[in-house]
Amino acid sequence: MLVMDTILRVVAYGRDVEAALEAALTEARRLEALWDRHRQGSEIWRVNRSAGSEPVSVSPETVALLQAALQFAELTGGALDVTIGPVVDLWGFGSGEGRIPPGQLLREALHLVDYRKVRTDAERGTVGLAEEGMSLDLGAVAKGAAVDALWSVLKEAGVRSALVDLGGNIRLLGSPPGRPEWLIGVQDPRDPSRLLGYLRLAGGAVATSGDYQRYFMVGGRRYHHILDPRTGWPAAEVASVTVWAPTALQADALSTALFVLGPERGYEMACSLPGVEALFVLPGGQVKLTPGMQSVFRVNPP
Ligand code: ADP
Ligand code: MG
Repeated sequence: MLVMDTILRVVAYGRDVEAALEAALTEARRLEALWDRHRQGSEIWRVNRSAGSEPVSVSPETVALLQAALQFAELTGGALDVTIGPVVDLWGFGSGEGRIPPGQLLREALHLVDYRKVRTDAERGTVGLAEEGMSLDLGAVAKGAAVDALWSVLKEAGVRSALVDLGGNIRLLGSPPGRPEWLIGVQDPRDPSRLLGYLRLAGGAVATSGDYQRYFMVGGRRYHHILDPRTGWPAAEVASVTVWAPTALQADALSTALFVLGPERGYEMACSLPGVEALFVLPGGQVKLTPGMQSVFRVNPP
């Protein structure tokens, strides 16, 4: 099933799970319609269209997602910045036609990237962007937030054992039938048909940000979709980052942010956050894991 431009996979065990799956799918479609900035009339489309003028009324889950995204921006010193829209547009990610933008245009677009210029008001239920030309792109956080929402729908419908996976953003519910842990494969970023290893997890959420998912090649160089908000260029210090965290939103936001921060600063940040573990794959193929990740990662299947 295609949702948010990627594959939605829900595995639920138990009797009578059909209604729960149906409800989860409905929720996925609802959130996609709110958060897709390219969809005319979506809440994010309306916020972007009103940039520089009045804040726009949006649903509570949209305010909540933006407030969470702004907190991650603060936490990561702006490595995650959902106002990256103008820069994403210049590179052509999302439209499918990648190109290297002229430096002058990139510099102009970078002036419009600043999460501190997002205004959210939970009481009024509004979101606004302070300057004309700014635009939100929730590509780094929407899938994680949607996975958490689907997870809650399944749980409330009485499902006890499930895995929700939206384009590699995964959240686990309960344990798989007859086994204490789920096995989650970690792809080799240089050969995604191959697995580097497995995570054996009893719960939580996992997300991977990689340079192999959306990219184009020019002159033998890879230009991919995870951009450093300070430079406007693809972050180049790692090939992929996998994060294990309590919620899918945390895992999604942090996998993107740690990718931008790189294997030194990103690693330190992962170690400093309770309940967060990370696995970095460097461009040369070396793997760097936080201690908690080391204890759940296995190179070979059991
Ligand atoms: P994926 O979409 O493959 O799951 P991510 O979760 O890492 O990967 O999100 C990458 C997407 O987020 C990009 O396609 C773009 O839309 C947006 N983005 C890119 N760089 C940043 C950034 N530094 N901060 C916030 N969003 C970003
Ligand atoms: Mg992400």
